[in-house]
Amino acid sequence: MKFQFTVNVKDQRTDGRLGEVLSGADVDDGDVSTLPSPALLVPTSKGEHATLTMDVLADVEKRLLSVLFYKRGEKKVIDETTRLFGTLVVGGHFVEKRARGGKRARERDGEENGGEEPTGATAETETEAGEATAVAARGPPARRLTVGHYRDPMFFGVNAQSRGGAGLLCDTPFGQKMMTPEEYSRLWSGDAHVACALADEHAGWENEKKSKTAAIRTCEWLDVCVRESKANDVPLWGVVLGGSSHEVREECSKNVAERDDDLTGYVIGGFYAGEAPHERGGLINAALVHVPQQKPRYLPGPATVEEIVDFIERGIDIFDATWASETASRGRAFVFPIRKEDLASDVEDEWVQPSAGTDAYSINLWSTSYKKDFSPFIDKTARAEACACPACSEHTRAYVHHLLQAHEMTSQVLLEAHNLYHLASFFAEARRALRCGEWSEFAAFHRKYAQKACAKLEPSVLPAAAAAAV
Ligand SMILES: [Zn+2]
Repeated sequence: MKFQFTVNVKDQRTDGRLGEVLSGADVDDGDVSTLPSPALLVPTSKGEHATLTMDVLADVEKRLLSVLFYKRGEKKVIDETTRLFGTLVVGGHFVEKRARGGKRARERDGEENGGEEPTGATAETETEAGEATAVAARGPPARRLTVGHYRDPMFFGVNAQSRGGAGLLCDTPFGQKMMTPEEYSRLWSGDAHVACALADEHAGWENEKKSKTAAIRTCEWLDVCVRESKANDVPLWGVVLGGSSHEVREECSKNVAERDDDLTGYVIGGFYAGEAPHERGGLINAALVHVPQQKPRYLPGPATVEEIVDFIERGIDIFDATWASETASRGRAFVFPIRKEDLASDVEDEWVQPSAGTDAYSINLWSTSYKKDFSPFIDKTARAEACACPACSEHTRAYVHHLLQAHEMTSQVLLEAHNLYHLASFFAEARRALRCGEWSEFAAFHRKYAQKACAKLEPSVLPAAAAAAV
């Protein structure tokens, strides 16, 4: 697997940077993609997007690429290898239940196959009859960065109580299963462009002693993952943990960075696990102290606009689109402004309607106030540019309101397509600001909007980060 990261532009005042990830299975066959950073990874379920089919996902990306290329004049930075999202695949999703009979069944299958191992079971474990076992992830989407991770960003998906250091308890379709670093690493053989090392995640409210033990164990597991990743030819990202302790995070960052020769990137992990939101920024700084500048940094979990702006300034390059999926699952569509021009008509006051469950970032399509609203989520009357996503191009708020009321799953498809398009559009604008030396204005605009919008809201409807800052 090929993986390469380049920093192209650095912001003058902050640690923000514009970069590029090149990944692919076979460079000679042209099987490579370029993912500009700050970048987005789309969370998946068993390797596929939970709500969108591959063609809808590709359509969302194609429409946005077309807008960037023709309307925003990014012709020089977009070519046929450019992708706007990577994919995040979760280890626990690839655990399958073995047929009763365990080892004997495998031997029998082997005899029937002329003595060969049965296909699909490449990560065999010591299993008893009927026990769940991990199989290698299969078929990542072609030409799109695929990152393997142990934690499901939508549901957390790991148990904070690791037992005796052997491995991490992960949620699987068959209940919780212990995943050892060896088993976990073998999942990605040939099927992920990058794997995040297994790390001993724990809740953010645990004490420093627990954080220290987990950080030490994470480094021990990292050594196993390094060995396995070399054997399986899968580039590896090391995970920096440390809970809510600055000292432990810095120490962990030092220990992980000592293995830098064997790592192609870093994961700033253990966030959105119960830590105090206002402490997140300082903890990220502590975790980045020893992380080399030229390697990409990924921070898993949900993040709001203000957090994304803040984290980019602290030097984070890769995020996931959990926020877009989570917002869609609550029947809400993003409407927050992306560029200054979006507020030219000064209509922001109209967007904040706590009585209809609408806030400054999204509208609540469950609200009956949209029953006869035959406009798309975002049109030209409210923003400088109408949304070109598949949902806004062909459907209305009233239709999605009806779908939600009728419990039609199509509502999720339309909301998810729009939210992903809108968030990816925000990232494209963030990259443009970095490239054109306009980051300060971009960041100030979003901070000011958040401050103004949140001032109008009751604390109960504030995004988590803003609520903590009040
Ligand atoms: Zn849209």
